[in-house]
Amino acid sequence: MKILIADDAPISRRLLEVTLTHEGYQVVLASDGAEALHILDQEDSPRLVILDWMMPKANGPEICRTIRKQTRKHYVYFILLSAKGEQSEVNEGLGAGADDYIIKPFDLSELKARVRSGQRIIELEEQLLSARELLQLQATHDSLTGLLNRAAILEILQKELARASREGTAVSIIVADLDHFKNVNDIYGHQAGDAVLVEAAQRMQASLRKYDAIGRCGGEEFLIVSPECSAGGVAEQAERLRQSVSAGPVQCVHGTIPVTVSFGVATTTGKLVQADQLLRSADEALYMAKKKGRNRVEVGSLVGQ
Ligand code: GH3
Ligand code: MG
Ligand code: MG
Repeated sequence: MKILIADDAPISRRLLEVTLTHEGYQVVLASDGAEALHILDQEDSPRLVILDWMMPKANGPEICRTIRKQTRKHYVYFILLSAKGEQSEVNEGLGAGADDYIIKPFDLSELKARVRSGQRIIELEEQLLSARELLQLQATHDSLTGLLNRAAILEILQKELARASREGTAVSIIVADLDHFKNVNDIYGHQAGDAVLVEAAQRMQASLRKYDAIGRCGGEEFLIVSPECSAGGVAEQAERLRQSVSAGPVQCVHGTIPVTVSFGVATTTGKLVQADQLLRSADEALYMAKKKGRNRVEVGSLVGQ
């Protein structure tokens, strides 16, 4: 873990550096307040800071106040070091936003113990942030295929439609539905069906361009949102997806299972359209693709005329 030591006195700085390096911390040094603030402005800056009160350019409490005013990704834990030992001074330091206050001269083992308690807070925050990230991931992704879930891909579609209507550009979508998928479950079992879904999702995702988004809308249906794509362009894109999924059977423990997908595509004209209008056009095209024999791409009427 990285610790920033900000102290203008070289001897005191060196003592802290040696002590904390010996404890296994990665130490970053600043010799005045401006340098400390500069370091804290960097990406991936230390989250635990030992601050001397009296320093040129910005003192310890000023640094605390500056950082506390910011909206930061991570909490910064401040230990303020000072020869100022009056109760009012301790209160002032903590009031400026310091988490802990150590009066000089101090005992090195106490400093180490206080650094460890700061480290516990930082680790706790880290755990909370990862738990939140995991929840966020679970709330927006489908657990089987790892693709975006229905709500998340529809949100992307709404955003793209709003952006396109502001900029007068087009949005295209592709709806994809696995062919005769019920048969896969019936013949090979539900687990085999799951394996085919995962493989089909991976094949489609691998064939997408980086600004396209794909989500699983439910069951064996997928939605691809393609910003600024012409009707012709999106049909070609869907054809590439079709070829990549049907390129070969899915090999899994349950057997060698052929897989194909039908696609319906729809594009806006650049006028304001609702998501469900666009989805309806793509669904109608998908219906035609199924009707005409499956494993094919059909293009729906332009939406927004
Ligand atoms: P079509 O070509 O007309 O689309 O026929 P289909 O059999 O694919 O369509 P249908 O809607 O009749 O059946 C879809 C099947 O997909 C039924 C359902 O059990 C299966 N299914 C939906 N979600 C899952 C899943 O998560 N795992 C598995 N294994 N099967 C699923
Ligand atoms: Mg189907
Ligand atoms: Mg279906």
